[in-house]
Amino acid sequence: MGWRFLEPGTILWQEEMMKVKHIDHIGVAVKGIEAAGKFYTDILGLKIAEVENVADQKVNVAFIPITDSEVELLESTDPDGPVAKYIHARGEGVQHVAFRVENIEEALAELKEKGVRLIDQEPRNGAGGARIAFIHPKETNGVLVELCERDS
Ligand code: ZN
Repeated sequence: MGWRFLEPGTILWQEEMMKVKHIDHIGVAVKGIEAAGKFYTDILGLKIAEVENVADQKVNVAFIPITDSEVELLESTDPDGPVAKYIHARGEGVQHVAFRVENIEEALAELKEKGVRLIDQEPRNGAGGARIAFIHPKETNGVLVELCERDS
C-alpha cells in the first residue's frame, strides 16, 4: 500500500474496517483548570463550555470546543489518579488523543482480532456522555490513543 494524495471528498476509511471519523479531542493534563484555561480563553479567545467531574477517572474535565473537536483540560482530583501520576512522571502536557469512531464495540473487536493491546477491553463511560476505551501506548509509538463514540 503506497502513499497517495486523496481527491476531495474521498472516504478515508477502508471498507470493512473501523470508521475513524475525526479527532474528537486532545486531552491535556494540567495542574489546575482555572490557571491553564486562561491561555485558551484570554489569549486564544475560546470558551470553556463546561467543567465536569469524572469520578471514575479522578479528574475534572474542562471542555473547550474548536469546531468538531475539543481541547479537554484534565485536572486531577486525587494524588493517586492517572492524571496526577502522569504529571508527576512527565509534567503537564498532551496526555492523550481521542479518535471519534462510529461504533466502539466494533472498533474494539477489530483491534482485538488484529492483536492490538488494549488498556480497556470493554468501553467505559467518559466525560461528556462519551463511551471510551484506551489503546495501549506501546502500540502507538508512545501516544495514548482513546477511541470515543458519541451520540451527537
Ligand atoms: Zn479523552
